[in-house]
Amino acid sequence: MTPAQPTRRNFLKGSLRSPDHTLMRPPRAVDAFPTLCDGCTKCETACPENIIVMGKDRQPVIDFTHGLCTFCSECANACPTGALDPLLDLDWNWKPAISQTCFSQIGVTCRSCEDACDQNAIRFKLRLGGRSEPQIDSDSCSGCGACAHVCPANAVTFKLSQPEMSEAIT
Ligand code: SF4
Ligand code: SF4
Ligand code: SF4
Repeated sequence: MTPAQPTRRNFLKGSLRSPDHTLMRPPRAVDAFPTLCDGCTKCETACPENIIVMGKDRQPVIDFTHGLCTFCSECANACPTGALDPLLDLDWNWKPAISQTCFSQIGVTCRSCEDACDQNAIRFKLRLGGRSEPQIDSDSCSGCGACAHVCPANAVTFKLSQPEMSEAIT
């Protein structure tokens, strides 16, 4: 029996190559992103928030140092290769996690992440000893990165919410 031939549709849907789930690619990256992206930097230039940088692999990754993602799709609109597809449903499963460098965990008052969160997804929980620590409600969180952008302790990292893909990035 002749094996099924790959179709262009299957290729674009990524059935021929899996994405690297440790890297936070721009929103609306197709599964075949690593194959389709040619590193042209047009998405980086198009992002009004300046949160796209070119990674070590010369393909774009999200970096919340300069802002947050508004999910505006300008990066996908600018992509000439189909690696980012503006017609793809937004499927953004990156969620923040708070590390032990958080000021609140060492008794220094800080509520910057809570103040920055438009989704009200961060609440502070009182711990023994009078410390309050931030807790994230993943269901309310959009993964926008506002909390990471404002955190003075660089304590917010992002992980994919699917357990099998949850490798931390910085
Ligand atoms: S969706 Fe908008 S804000 Fe987010 S990375 Fe793309 S261009 Fe930037
Ligand atoms: S902004 Fe950073 S340091 Fe401040 S409470 Fe939130 S995670 Fe902790
Ligand atoms: S990623 Fe955005 S929505 Fe989620 S907790 Fe941080 S600021 Fe709130």
